[in-house]
Formats: sequence, structure tokens, C-alpha cells
Amino acid sequence: MDENGAYRPVLGGLRHRTLWRTRPPDGMFVRLLCGGTYQVSSKRKSVMIYECHACEAVYEEIRDHEAEFRRIAIALGGGLRRARLSRGWTLGMVCAALGDTLSVPQLSRFERAERDFTVRRLVDLCTVLGIPPGDLLSTAWRRRRDYVDGVMKPDS
Ligand SMILES: [Zn+2]
Repeated sequence: MDENGAYRPVLGGLRHRTLWRTRPPDGMFVRLLCGGTYQVSSKRKSVMIYECHACEAVYEEIRDHEAEFRRIAIALGGGLRRARLSRGWTLGMVCAALGDTLSVPQLSRFERAERDFTVRRLVDLCTVLGIPPGDLLSTAWRRRRDYVDGVMKPDS
């Protein structure tokens, strides 16, 4: 997320935000976070530039959503890991139960929330681990604040 919005075109003396990391090709229309559109041009120049406050407001909101999603993803990965360990299973055993459609490094990245997974993966993993997907999600939602910097606070 931090790299998103790196391309910030100037329109009408305001520096706007987009979700583009790098400058798109000339002629392309890009959406500004404040709702406007901007046609990319290398020729356009502007003298004084102010921040577009509407873009900044949307950007902050997106950042908050991203941070919240990361907390839930960490809690979800931790929940998967706890469910696996409570059965005494290794990563490899889970992958084998999934018919090796998932590799051990992939599963490890899921558990550490280093990689997002699909609903399909979530359902498959819960099925082999014998836990309702809804339980895993609702626990992750409830415990999302218990995870700080990827580490879970001890139960109190
Ligand atoms: Zn704007």
C-alpha cells in the first residue's frame, strides 16, 4: 500500500493522489482519489502546487482499511497455525491432505500473513483442519487487536 499512490499528477494547481505506483503511459486516463480523472501527459507543467485535500482524505481512509486488513490477516494466519498445531500436524501434513495443491512454503506464508489467500483456500484449509471457516474468521476479527507487529499478545 505504501508504494501505491506514488504517482501524483498535478491538475488545476493541485497535486492529486492515484493508486498508481509509477507514471502510466502518456494519453492514459487515470482516476484521482478525489473522484476526478486526469489524462497522463509529460508535457503538462504547473507553477504552484498545493495538495488536494480530498485526495489526501481518501488516501488516509484507504491506509486505515489496509492496516485493518493486515491485522485481520495476521490474526487469521495465526488461527490457521493454532488449528494445525492443536492437531499436531506439520505444514507438510496439511499440504498432503490438500492433495499437494499447496506447497509447504506457500502455507507457511499464509500462516505468517505474508501472502493473502482466496476464499477457496480458506474453505479448503478449514475443511482439512476440521474447523468451520466462519469460526476462524470471526475469531480473527475479534482478536485482530491482539496482534501487534505480527506477534500475538498472551491470553489474559
Ligand atoms: Zn484530488
